Amino acid sequence: MLEECCLCPRHCGVNRLAGESGKCHITTEAIVSSYGPHFGEEAPLVGSHGSGTIFFTYCNLRCVFCQNYTISQLGEGSPASREELARMMLSLQARGCHNINLVSPTHVIPYILDALELAVTMELYLPLVYNSGGYDSVETLELLDGIVDIYMPDMKYSGEKNAEQLSGIKDYPAVNKAAIREMHRQVGDLQLDGQGVAQRGLLVRHLVLPNRLAGTKEVVRFLAQEVSTNTYLNIMAQYHPCYKAFDIPLLSRPLNKQELHEAIDLAHQRGLHRLDKHHLPLPLRLV
Ligand code: SF4
Repeated sequence: MLEECCLCPRHCGVNRLAGESGKCHITTEAIVSSYGPHFGEEAPLVGSHGSGTIFFTYCNLRCVFCQNYTISQLGEGSPASREELARMMLSLQARGCHNINLVSPTHVIPYILDALELAVTMELYLPLVYNSGGYDSVETLELLDGIVDIYMPDMKYSGEKNAEQLSGIKDYPAVNKAAIREMHRQVGDLQLDGQGVAQRGLLVRHLVLPNRLAGTKEVVRFLAQEVSTNTYLNIMAQYHPCYKAFDIPLLSRPLNKQELHEAIDLAHQRGLHRLDKHHLPLPLRLV
């Protein structure tokens, strides 16, 4: 797949094994910006000892409002070999993390799998979290069947026009829906252990954007009607403009309370009842 890169739905067709790079800038080695226990993720991932995040540099999306743009667009990070990646995973396990949380893994899947092969021989046993922007191809996801335990994709938009303007990809909605169906087929609804820590399943993130730019109504309809009303959904309220968002008038302010309430109401109306409350303002966490 790397010889004429079709690892993600961008289908750049470049020969990454020969050192060519496509939209994600990565050639033959993963780049990592940081790794460590993370306590800001969803409660079922954080548990008591944190989620073991590894942040991969670059991304196959071009979101104008990316809060991590220095990593995802500007390339902050250092190359990590197979051995180094495996060591990171094992060190997160040794520190008591509940999972290995692979952040932005889509464009570096082969290098993750290569490192996993090594880490497993060194007794890595934690659940693996595939934490992506949701622009993943079904063909590549099929290769992960039986390897990934927890899928945590974004559902960023339901409208093509906004997807094109804000992330540079017109077909995001259709590709994203197909990816979510495949992820759910593989792992089902999110399952927690007795301590409320995630073991397996699908967890969807949806960042609500100002002026209904994220298309929340269709996102929750799709999840409820075409995936499962038991879908664990994190409706994220923390949008604030950064990076190039100031150039887009409709995106140049934070989300307001009414917009957040509307998104939560829409999810409830569709029967989605497993809403993560971690990222909501305090009064709404108590509802
Ligand atoms: S993984 Fe990178 S090079 Fe390959 S198709 Fe996607 S963006 Fe292009």
